[in-house]
Amino acid sequence: MSIFSKDKKNTETHKDGFWKSVYEGEFFGRISKKEAGIRRFDVREHFKNVIFPHLKERKAAIRAAAAFLVAAGVLLYAAAGHRAVDREKEITKILHDKNTDITRQLDATASELDNVSEEFNKTLNEMEEKDNIIAETDTKLSSLLEENEEQQQLIDEQQQTIGDQQNHIDEQQEIIDNQQQIIDEQQNAIDLTDEAIREIADSIGANISSRNAGTMYNALDKINKSKQIISDTIDDPEKVKEYCDLLDRKAAEVNEDLKRYPDYEPAPGKISYTFGNHTSVRNGVTVTNFHRGLDIHNPSSPPVKSAAYGKITEVHLHNDGTGLGIYVRIDHGNGYSTLYGHLASVCVKEGQTVEKGQQIGIMGKTGAATGVHVHIEVYIDGQRVDPITYFDYEFM
Ligand SMILES: [Zn+2]
Repeated sequence: MSIFSKDKKNTETHKDGFWKSVYEGEFFGRISKKEAGIRRFDVREHFKNVIFPHLKERKAAIRAAAAFLVAAGVLLYAAAGHRAVDREKEITKILHDKNTDITRQLDATASELDNVSEEFNKTLNEMEEKDNIIAETDTKLSSLLEENEEQQQLIDEQQQTIGDQQNHIDEQQEIIDNQQQIIDEQQNAIDLTDEAIREIADSIGANISSRNAGTMYNALDKINKSKQIISDTIDDPEKVKEYCDLLDRKAAEVNEDLKRYPDYEPAPGKISYTFGNHTSVRNGVTVTNFHRGLDIHNPSSPPVKSAAYGKITEVHLHNDGTGLGIYVRIDHGNGYSTLYGHLASVCVKEGQTVEKGQQIGIMGKTGAATGVHVHIEVYIDGQRVDPITYFDYEFM
């Protein structure tokens, strides 16, 4: 009995050791296929090389022991021969019991062996299933890796494209930067031109005097020349317009002043008497008279015209043969005013405005006049000035 107990115990020990390892998931946990293969191999080898031989060995030994006992029984039976029937029966019974017991033990062991085999097969099947799962997983993993590789390739290509585009952008940025530099330089040039033109405009303006026709005509001349230079040298039509407009505004101001500047010769003729003090000897006495205007003589009695734009402030029509006779006074609105005397007739009314060069009357000899002439007076801020400054008359 002891041999079977020991065998059984040993078998259980082996079995327990194996299943312990199996059920604790050492084989079916999250381990690599390779590892699993190695472990499975080990278990198979273990069964093949250790457990099975051991069991087979025991089985053979048990069978041999049984056979031996049976053979011994037969031999004893034969040897006893003629021994007492009781003894024979007793021995036969013992042998029978022993045989039965052995057979029973043998069957139990065989059954146990079958169970182990069955469990082992189950385990192998499970391992096969796990193997399949691993293989499937492997396949999936492979295809995933393949996809991943393709995606990586795609990403690499896109990366390359992005890199190329970045280079392209960088090149364009460089071009833009260069263009910006050119634009900046041009802008600087424009700024300088701008500044220069404004300085020109300012300098033209600074030298203009509404009391000096020379500066005004000179300014207009400069303005026209500047406009010509601007048109010839600047490409940008908007800038040309801007600068020309600037200069035109200056020109308009100058023209406005010029309009009121009394330099239009009121009538054709020659100077018969100048402005200022005149000394003469009458009856041996030297007399000094102050002539308040400039006399322009013309026997053909031409029209008399306004020396500048302005408003008629006085029309003196009373003629008693003294003084200036029929005369007209005009306020030009800029501190200037003019007077035209000895007129034969007048064609304007008080309060009316007249343009520079507009007719106001006819040259005559009304008042204290010895011949047909126009007596011209010019005032600045109420003070008489020599009219010769404003006109280009010649002496008689
Ligand atoms: Zn006079």
